[in-house]
Amino acid sequence: MSSCLRLSSPTSSARMLLRRTTLTTSTQQTRLFHLRTSNTPRLNNPSTLLSSITPTRLRATSTAVPLIHSRQFSNTSSALASTTTPDDLKASPLAPLDYAAIEQKWLKRWKENKIVEAQTAAVKAASAKELAAEEEPDKFYILSQFPYPSGVLHMGHVRVYAISDALARARRMMGFDVVHPMGWDAFGLPAENAAIERSVHPNEWTIKNIASMKGQMEKILADFDWDRELRTCSPEYYRWTQYLFLKLHEAGLAYQKEAIVNWDPVDETVLANEQVDSDGKSWRSGAVVEKRKLRQWFFKITEYAEDLLQDLDRLQNWPDRVKQMQRNWIGKSKGAEFDFKVNNSGSSGDIQVFTSRPDTLFGVQFLAVSVEHPILDSIPASHQQMLEEFKESLKKVTTSETEPGPEGIPTGLMADHPLLPGTKIPVYAVNYVVSDYGTGAVMGVPGHDERDYAFAKTQGINIKFVVTPDIPEGAKPATEGGPLTARGVLMGNNGEFSGLTCEAAAEAIVKKADGLGFGREKTSFRIRDWLISRQRYWGAPIPMIHCQGCGPVPVPAEDLPVVLPMDVSFTGRGGSPLKQVDDWVKCSCPKCGGSAQRDTDTMDTFVDSSWYFLRYLDPHNTQIPFSHAKATSGMPVDVYIGGIEHAILHLLYSRFLSKFAWKTGLYGRETEAEDKAGKVPGRGEPFNVLLTQGMVQGRTFKDPVTGAFLKPEEVDLSDPANPIQKSTGLAPSQSYEKMSKSKFNGVDPEDMIASHGADATRLHVLYKAPPSEELEWDEQSIVGMQRFMAKVWKVVGNTTQTGSDKTTGEFQPSIETMNKDERELWRSLNHTVKELTTSFQNTYAFNTSIAFLIKLTNQLSTVTPSSSASSAATSTTSQPAAKKAKKVQAEVSPELYQHTAEALVKMLSPLAPAFGEECWETLQSRSSPSSPSRAIAGTTPSVFAEAWPTFNEEALKEDKVVCGIQVNGKSRFNIEYDVSELPQDRAGQEEFLRGLVYKHERAEKWLMDDQGRMKDVKKMIVIKGGKLVSFVL
Ligand SMILES: [Zn+2]
Repeated sequence: MSSCLRLSSPTSSARMLLRRTTLTTSTQQTRLFHLRTSNTPRLNNPSTLLSSITPTRLRATSTAVPLIHSRQFSNTSSALASTTTPDDLKASPLAPLDYAAIEQKWLKRWKENKIVEAQTAAVKAASAKELAAEEEPDKFYILSQFPYPSGVLHMGHVRVYAISDALARARRMMGFDVVHPMGWDAFGLPAENAAIERSVHPNEWTIKNIASMKGQMEKILADFDWDRELRTCSPEYYRWTQYLFLKLHEAGLAYQKEAIVNWDPVDETVLANEQVDSDGKSWRSGAVVEKRKLRQWFFKITEYAEDLLQDLDRLQNWPDRVKQMQRNWIGKSKGAEFDFKVNNSGSSGDIQVFTSRPDTLFGVQFLAVSVEHPILDSIPASHQQMLEEFKESLKKVTTSETEPGPEGIPTGLMADHPLLPGTKIPVYAVNYVVSDYGTGAVMGVPGHDERDYAFAKTQGINIKFVVTPDIPEGAKPATEGGPLTARGVLMGNNGEFSGLTCEAAAEAIVKKADGLGFGREKTSFRIRDWLISRQRYWGAPIPMIHCQGCGPVPVPAEDLPVVLPMDVSFTGRGGSPLKQVDDWVKCSCPKCGGSAQRDTDTMDTFVDSSWYFLRYLDPHNTQIPFSHAKATSGMPVDVYIGGIEHAILHLLYSRFLSKFAWKTGLYGRETEAEDKAGKVPGRGEPFNVLLTQGMVQGRTFKDPVTGAFLKPEEVDLSDPANPIQKSTGLAPSQSYEKMSKSKFNGVDPEDMIASHGADATRLHVLYKAPPSEELEWDEQSIVGMQRFMAKVWKVVGNTTQTGSDKTTGEFQPSIETMNKDERELWRSLNHTVKELTTSFQNTYAFNTSIAFLIKLTNQLSTVTPSSSASSAATSTTSQPAAKKAKKVQAEVSPELYQHTAEALVKMLSPLAPAFGEECWETLQSRSSPSSPSRAIAGTTPSVFAEAWPTFNEEALKEDKVVCGIQVNGKSRFNIEYDVSELPQDRAGQEEFLRGLVYKHERAEKWLMDDQGRMKDVKKMIVIKGGKLVSFVL
C-alpha cells in the first residue's frame, strides 16, 4: 500500500520542511497550510505518473465494496447504533456507522492498493529521472518486538502493535520512508513440547500458528511490511544465524567449556529450567532432577562488557530504569585482588580473591571458595568425606523463587592474613560462590557484608568490626545486630590505616599490597559469558563438526545452512532428538576428510532474536546476512517497542551482536569520524528510542471468603460498578492483575474486535494509559471511544452538507477578519496539531493525543459552518448568554470548518485507520466535482497519502494576555489586555503596560504611598513578551 500512496503524496518540499522544522515557527509553514479538498495533483510529474496509474486505479475501484449505506437498517449487530445517542444521529446526514463493514471495506481496499503498488513500481522506475532530482526521503525504522508464534494474539500484542502501527502511519504521512516489518521468533521449546505431547511436528505446529496470528494481526488493522517477513526457523534465516556464529568463532568470541545442565536421570535428557517444577522434579518423568556437567558453547559477551556499559550513556532515549537494569546486570565493580597463602597440613598454594572493599582487609575472618576450586584437591583426608557429601547435596536442583541461604563446610585448610602476621584464617567450601565468578573465591568479612555475616552466623564465628560509621559523637555505631555495609572510617584495629576514611584506606591498602606483592587493583564484572548451547531439537543447529583428530572444526560458510533434519522422532527421552539421527550426525571432517560428527546442540533462541532487526533491512539476500549499504542506511532502529520483560537479556544480546557486526565492518561507517557524523546513538548501538510498553491487566474477581478466583460467569455484572458473586450474593474482591488463564481474567482480542470493532479497540488501548504504564482493561469504557467516533462522524456529516466547493486552493486564513469563534477554533486546531505532532515524534503520549482530538471534536460540535459566519462576528461575540445556552450555535466559515475537520480526520487516522479512511473518503466525496484527481481517477485517495497537518506558531497566541505584576520580586496582581493592543517596541510596551498597571484598583495598595502618590520606581522590567512586569521600588 504505502509506496503507491507515496506516489500521490504531497510535494516533497512540504514534507521535507515538516520533517525538519515541525516544532519551529516558520512563515513557510503558514503558506503550506493547504486545504486538501482541492485534491490538487501532488505528483512530481503528474503527466507521466497519472496517465499510467489511471487504468489500474479504475480497475481497482470498479470492484469496490458496496457502500455501507445499504446496510444501515438491516444490520442489527452494528455496535455503534446502540451507543449513538438519538441526538447524534438526528443531525447527521450520514448513515449510522457499521464498524465491521467499514473495516472489511478498507482491508479489502488496502489489499487492492498493494496490487496497484506492485503495478506502479514499473511506473516509478520509468520516472526515476524525475524522482532522482528530488531529495531522498529520510528513512524511519519502527520496530515492534516480533512474537513467538503461540497461535494466539493476546491483548499485550494488540497494545504493542497499535502503538507501532499508529507511529508508522503517522510517520509516513510526515513524509518519511518508513520501515515497519513483522516476523516470527519461531524456534523454541513450546513447539517441541507440542511434538512430544501431541505428535505434531514442530514445523507444522509453528507454521499453522503463524498463519492464524497473521490473520489476527490483520484484524487489528496493523499495516506491516509483509514483504520483509521473516521466520527464524526457516533455513533462509538460520543459515545466517549460523554464519554469525562462525564469525564469532573466527573472532575468538565463540568457545566451548563445561557448564552445568539440568539432567533428568529417568528420561536421560537435559531439561530447560521451565521443565523443572518447583519441587525440583522433571515435568515429564517426575524424577528428581540432577545437575550435570556438559561441554557447551558460549559467546564471550564479557569481552564487550566495558563497551556495553559505557555506551549506555549514549542511549538518551531509553528509559532510565532499563539502563539501570543493564548497568546492574553488567555489574562493574572496582576493587582489588588479594593473594592469601595457604600453608598447612602439608598443602600449599595461593587463594586469589576479588573484593570491591579492599578497605576491609583487616576484617577478613575466613575465605569462602566454590566447591570446584582447585585448592580443594589438597584438603586434608579428614575433610574429604564431608566435602563429597556437600558436593552431592548441591546437585539437587532447586527452582524455588527464593535463593537458598548460605551453606558451607570447613575444609581444614588455613590461610595466612597478609598484613596480620600469625593470624590464621579458615577456608570454607560454600554454595554461594560460583566457580566461574571471578576467581571462584571471596574473602569473608562478616562485619561488613550481608552474606558473609549470614554465613558466619551459621558457623558460630565471633564477628569482628573494622569500620565505624562516620557519625556524630554519642550516636551508637552499628556494631550490634548486623553488618555495617556503609562506608565510614576505619576503627583502631586497622594498624597503620586506622582513622582513615574507607576511600582513603582502600587506596592505601592496595598500594601497600602492591608493594609487598600480594595484591593489586582490579576491575571486575558481574556479567557472565552467554551460554548458547541447548540440548534441544527446535533451534538453529550449531555449525560445528567434531573430529577425533582435529577437534572442533567450523562448518565451511559455503556449506551453510546446516539444515535441521525433519524426519525425527519426539519421545522426550534419551537426550536431544538430533543425537538419534545417525545419518545427520555422521559426516566427514572439513579439515582432514576423516569421519566426524556434527555438534548436536542447537542455539539459544535469544541468538535468533539478537540480530533480526538487521535482517529485516535486507530480508531476501542469499549471499550475505545483510548488505553493508542497506544495514548502514537503515540502522539504527528509530523506535523499538516491546515489553519490559526483555529489558535485560534480549536488549543486551542485541546490543552485543549489533556492536560485533559494527566492529567487524558488517555494517556502519568506514571510520570513527564518519560514524560520528552519522545517526545517533552510534557505535553499533541498535536502538535509538526504546519504548517499553506496560502490561495489560484484567479485571480479576475473587471469592471474598475463600480467595478463590471467580470465572466471569460466576459474577453478576448487570451493574458493572457493583458486581455480585452469584452463588453467595456477596461483593467479590476485585483487582487488576496480569491476564492469565488461571485467574479467569483474560480477554480475547478477537472477541473485543468482533463486538466493538478494531478501531475502537485500538483507540481504547491507546487512550486508557500512556504506553509505558500498566493498562487496566475495562471493556465498559470502550463505549466512550465509540461515542467519540460518532461525534467525528457527525462533524464529517456537517461538512459534507455545506458542500464547501469554494474552498479550493490553499487555505490562508486571515486572523484579522475572523470572528471570535473562528479564532478560537483556529487556535485549538493549531494547538492540537502541535500536541499530536510532538506526541508522534517525541513523547508517544497517545492518551493525551486522543484527549486533544476529543476536545477538538467537541469544539467542532458546538459550531455550525455558515457562509455568513464572518459577517456575523460582532453579533456572535455580543451574545454570550445565548451561546452558553447552546440554543444558538456559534457560526464559523465553511472553509475553516472543513479545514479543521480534515485535519482532525488526518490526525485520527493513524490511531483508527479504517474509520479514518471512511471519514476521509466521505469528506472528499462531496467536495468539488471538478477536483482534478476525482475527475481523473474517479475515486479519492487514501488519507494515508495525505501530508500530516502542520501548525502555525502565530496561531497559538491567545487573544487576551493575562500579565502578572510583581512588586519587589513578589507576585501581587494580574492585569489583562488584548494582545493586539501591545506595541511592538520596548519603550511603547513599557508605557502601555504602566498605564494599565496604574489604572488597576490594586495598584493603590502596592505602588502608592499613604497619600496616594506614586512610589518611586527604581526599575520596571517587561518580561516574557508582556506576560510579566516586575517593579523594583
Ligand atoms: Zn579432522
